[in-house]
Amino acid sequence: MTNTSAAHLMPVFARADLSFEKGEGVWLTATNGKRYLDFTSGVAVNALGHAHPHLVAALQEQATRLWHMSNLFGSPDGERLAARLCEASFADKVFFANSGAEAMECAIKVTRKYQAAKGHPERYRIITFEGAFHGRTLATLAAGGQEKYLEGFGPRVEGFDQVPLGDLEATKKAIGPHTAGILIEPLQGEGGVRSPTNAFLKALRELCDDNKLLLVFDEVQSGMGRTGELFAYQRTGVAPDVMALAKALGGGFPMGACLATNEAASGMTAGTHGSTFGGNPLAVSAANAVLDVMLAPGFFDHVKRASLLLKQKLASIVDRHPGVLSEVRGEGLLIGLKAVVPANDLVLALRDENLLTVGAGENVVRLLPPLIVSEAEIEDAVGRIENACAKLSAGLPKREAV
Ligand SMILES: *Cc1c(COP(=O)(O)O)cnc(C)c1O
Repeated sequence: MTNTSAAHLMPVFARADLSFEKGEGVWLTATNGKRYLDFTSGVAVNALGHAHPHLVAALQEQATRLWHMSNLFGSPDGERLAARLCEASFADKVFFANSGAEAMECAIKVTRKYQAAKGHPERYRIITFEGAFHGRTLATLAAGGQEKYLEGFGPRVEGFDQVPLGDLEATKKAIGPHTAGILIEPLQGEGGVRSPTNAFLKALRELCDDNKLLLVFDEVQSGMGRTGELFAYQRTGVAPDVMALAKALGGGFPMGACLATNEAASGMTAGTHGSTFGGNPLAVSAANAVLDVMLAPGFFDHVKRASLLLKQKLASIVDRHPGVLSEVRGEGLLIGLKAVVPANDLVLALRDENLLTVGAGENVVRLLPPLIVSEAEIEDAVGRIENACAKLSAGLPKREAV
C-alpha cells in the first residue's frame, strides 16, 4: 500500500477516492476499471480532451529535440506562438508563464509598471470584484479577496480594492489618485459561473479610458475557446489592455501567458520581469498544437452548437426537477447548474452515474466538457444528469401541494 497512500502529500485538497490511469477524448478510465465521462476537463484545462492525437504527436516530436532552454536565448517557436496569440486578439506583446496565478502576477505587474513608467508610481491600486478568483499566490489571493483563502497567511498584499460585481457606482467611488487599473473575469468560473453584463464591461472600459487606467481581464478559465470564441471578451464587444491566460492554453501541459497592448506593456523593459520555465519549448509546442486545432475552420461553430444543445437539454431537466436545480448559467461550454440541494450532493450523485463535474461558488455545479465533446456524448451526459436528479428528487421530502 505504501506507493498508493496519500500520507506524504500535503492534505490541501479534498480528494475523491477515485484515480485515473488513462484518458481518451471525453472519457477517462479509473484504476477501478470503470469508465467516466469527463465534464471537468481537469478544471477547464483539457479543452481538446485526453490524448488528442495532434497534441500527442507535437509533444512526442518536441521531446526528442529540445526540452528546455533559458530565456537568455531566442525561441522561434515561442515567437511564433506569441505572434499567433496577438494576431488572434487585441494584444501586441506576450509574456509566457507556467500557470494562471503567474500569468495574473504578470498582469498585475504590467499594470503597476505602466503607471510608474508614465510618471505615476503612486498609482498602484487595482479594483477587483466580489466572487473573483485570480489564483493562490499571495498577490493573486489579495486580488481575489476571499477571506477563507487569505486567513492565516499574514498581512495581505496591499493594493486591491474590492467592489460588488456589476456595481458601477461602487466602482466609480473606488477610483482614486492611487488607482492603476480594473481587473475582472469576463465570466467568473470558481465564483459560480457568474457573468457581468456587456453593458457593465463597456462602462468599465469607459471608466478606464476616462481615468487613464488599464482594464485587465482574467481569462485563465474563460479563454481558449471555452465560451465558443477563442477569448470570452470577443463575445462582449469590449477589449482589455491586459489579459491573463492559462488553463487550456497548453491543452494539459502547464502554461500561462500575459497578453498586453504595446501601450500597456510600455513599462516592461529588459530585466523588469522573468521566469525560468516560462515559454518552455515543450509548453510552447503543446500550445501551438492547441492553436492548430482551435483555429481550424469550424472549431468554434462546433463549440457553439454543443453549447446550445447542452443548455437546451439542461433547461428541461431544471424544469422537471425544481427541487434539485434552479438555473442553468454560463456561456459556451463553461456551464453552471445552480443547485437547490447542496451542490456537493449533486457532484457526488453525478459521480455515481460516472459523470465527473466540479463545484463552484454560489452552490453551483460546473460542467466543463472538453470542447471536442460530440452531440452523442452530450446526450449521454444529459441522461446521467437526469438520472442523478431523479434519484435526488426521489430522496427529497414531498412538497406541500399548492
Ligand atoms: C484557475 C484560475 C486561476 C489560477 O490558475 P492556476 O493555474 O491554478 O494558478 C486564475 N484565475 C482564474 C479565473 C482561474 O480560473
